[in-house]
Amino acid sequence: MSIRTPYLQVADSGVHGLGAFVTQDLPTATLLGTYQGRRFSEDQLCRRRWDDSLTYLFSLSNGDTIDGSRGGNATRHINHSCEPNCEAVEEIDAKGRLALRIYALRPLLAGEELFLDYGLIVDEASMASDYRCLCRAASCRGSMVAPPHASG
Ligand SMILES: [Zn+2]
Repeated sequence: MSIRTPYLQVADSGVHGLGAFVTQDLPTATLLGTYQGRRFSEDQLCRRRWDDSLTYLFSLSNGDTIDGSRGGNATRHINHSCEPNCEAVEEIDAKGRLALRIYALRPLLAGEELFLDYGLIVDEASMASDYRCLCRAASCRGSMVAPPHASG
């Protein structure tokens, strides 16, 4: 396991495939890890076909995308929930690059599975129903896609 995610353990998820679980009780705002993997610029991304590896892709506000399926760590196994217990925050790392860090949104108990709200942005050709959410949260949107913004 990566030394960069000392509190995480990968195991079968209660929701989908593998999941990331915390190995000890942790307070709110604990840094759980940095989302790592190969980086692609917007141009590079357009030239690729992604098939179903979508759930390992994380888009940054500067247009870069991190592909956690290549060189990623345990944070790539964090599943989506509409009621997340951690959040991804963009921060500038020691090398001056934009990094995606995962922080606890509330106190976590040893053995809890971690969930992020992916809030996927998909192009108009894709249907939200293609990204069905199975998180079972009371407030579940039924989709991993971000809720529509009131605009126009
Ligand atoms: Zn849901």
